[in-house]
Amino acid sequence: MDKNEKIDYEAKFVLSNKQFSQGDQRDEARYLFVKNRYKKCVLCESDEIEETNHVAGGRWSGGCYGTDVFKCKKCGWTTSFQYDEDSEPPCYYETHRWLKRIEKEREEEKEKEKE
Ligand SMILES: [Zn+2]
Repeated sequence: MDKNEKIDYEAKFVLSNKQFSQGDQRDEARYLFVKNRYKKCVLCESDEIEETNHVAGGRWSGGCYGTDVFKCKKCGWTTSFQYDEDSEPPCYYETHRWLKRIEKEREEEKEKEKE
C-alpha cells in the first residue's frame, strides 16, 4: 500500500482496556477488505462502513495502540484490525504481510486496464 494513502476518518472513539479482535478474521476476507482500502464490505460490497476506534492505551512517545472495528451498515459484516501508531506504517501491523501482494495485484490490475 502507498504510504501516502489516507484512510478517511470519521471514526468513533471508545476506550477499551486491551486490544482484541472481532468479527470475521479470515485472512482472505480481511485481505480483500484491506485491498479495497477499508471502504467496501466483502459480503455485500456496500461502501457504508462504520469505523469505531477502541483505544487501548498510549505511550510516553505519543503513540496509541488499540483496535479499529469496521462494520458494514448494510449487512452487519464486521472485522477488526489492531493498530499501533509506533509500528512501521501503516499502523495496522496485522496487514504488513499483505502489502507486497496488494501492491503487486494493483499493478497487475492497472496493466489489465491499459489493454
Ligand atoms: Zn455488507
